[in-house]
Amino acid sequence: MYNPKSHVATEFISDDEIQETLAYAEANKENGALIDQILKKARLHKGLDHREASVLLACTLPDRNEAILGLAKGIKEAYYGSRIVMFAPLYLSNYCVNGCVYCPFHGQNKHIPRKKLTQAEIEREVIALQDMGHKRLALETGEDPINCPIDYVLDSIHTIYSIKHKNGAIRRVNVNIAATTVENYQKLHDAGIGTYILFQETYHKESYLELHPWGPKHDYDYHTESMDRAMTGGIDDVGIGVLFGLDKYRYEFAGLLMHAEHLEAAFGVGPHTISVPRIRPADDIDPETFDNGISEEIFEKIVACIRIAVPYTGMIMSTRESMATRRNVLDLGISQISGASCTSVGGYAGTDRDSLESNQFDTSDKRTLDEVVHWLMDLGYIPSFCTACYRAGRTGDRFMSLCKSGQIQNCCHPNALMTLKEYLQDYASPDTVQAGNRLIDEQINDIPNDRIREVVGKNLVAIANGSRDFRI
Ligand code: SAM
Ligand code: SF4
Repeated sequence: MYNPKSHVATEFISDDEIQETLAYAEANKENGALIDQILKKARLHKGLDHREASVLLACTLPDRNEAILGLAKGIKEAYYGSRIVMFAPLYLSNYCVNGCVYCPFHGQNKHIPRKKLTQAEIEREVIALQDMGHKRLALETGEDPINCPIDYVLDSIHTIYSIKHKNGAIRRVNVNIAATTVENYQKLHDAGIGTYILFQETYHKESYLELHPWGPKHDYDYHTESMDRAMTGGIDDVGIGVLFGLDKYRYEFAGLLMHAEHLEAAFGVGPHTISVPRIRPADDIDPETFDNGISEEIFEKIVACIRIAVPYTGMIMSTRESMATRRNVLDLGISQISGASCTSVGGYAGTDRDSLESNQFDTSDKRTLDEVVHWLMDLGYIPSFCTACYRAGRTGDRFMSLCKSGQIQNCCHPNALMTLKEYLQDYASPDTVQAGNRLIDEQINDIPNDRIREVVGKNLVAIANGSRDFRI
């Protein structure tokens, strides 16, 4: 039975409820009156439930679809302004005991070299990332209790936070590792992680069992209930996502929103982020073998409908997507993107950046961080290296309150400008410096509070003179 408050996977992600939702959405996809009613509610910026949002996703009326995209842009602008937060993944280990059929790290793949970074190698990777200008990482590992135990992940987090190279520092370490126990989540929390990220891959249980034929990840319920354990372990920023292409996108969309509603109902705080990855080619993986690939148009609509349904949840897009796709969805709801990513173990400091043999998947967007930063500014966005909320203890519902209070323009906006200034001073090319300083000069006037605007002005001068790490 469907019960969003339950901690049992098949009750908060009830297949019956999803099937009924999909039937309801299909039956109403041309129901202009109902769609207008849903859009009216969405214009309050308080979100929609999975049924309402599923009707919008299914809608086939061209004028209403235009209104959906327009509304998503409005919500994005209202809550996130033109800021885009930057991050990079860091692959620590590709040992894996699971059989995920879409991932080349699966345990039976004999032709990828297996590697786990030593702490000295992590230091080299982190220095390479700091030298690009990154301040925020997402740690990635395969699942292997022997070759990559939790203590190794904890040591690695400690190493990463301790490296201060020139003016560089990694100020927020997010973690994307396999589902684990409450006790291990507590340890991750105590190690000072930012967001715990875990993709559901697919919410469709039957497909999930086929796509994960063996290994601990085969256990759908344990995987689906991981965020409950993470929150019980004290982590209040969690990031969910599905791997689009594995199953039917409308099913995944309803499942994602039900997962968000469950976290809100059971813990009083929804997910901090939602990721929207799509399957990519990789060593022994051909995305064509998966039947459920989605078009660009559908991808854009999914991003827009997530933005409308959960206005306060950050949305992440990786370098799996091309520059063109990224440009199309940035203003529909994406708030964080990766830049200059490498998906192999040791690829930042090593030489195998583009080797498909050891990459987890082939990235589409291969530009440098400087190129991505410049490109964002040319498009009118403010690249942000801010990590202030988490460091000021504004996580979970405290972060959500900040969003809802409308104070973002006095807080996130100045932090974005100050961290961009640090980036320009320390890492940017001359062209990017010029474009960035121009942007900062314009954007400082958009800070509404006089006192904060004055403080930021002084801090920007101090940054130019060598000081670092200011935040509101
Ligand atoms: N091993 C952990 C797990 O599976 O949850 C976390 C890290 S795994 C390296 C990160 C994510 O990469 C997976 O959750 C999966 O969605 C994604 N992934 C795997 N193979 C992929 C592919 N061929 N294309 C795009 N993304 C892929
Ligand atoms: Fe292992 Fe994660 Fe890849 Fe699955 S997706 S094979 S668990 S690394």
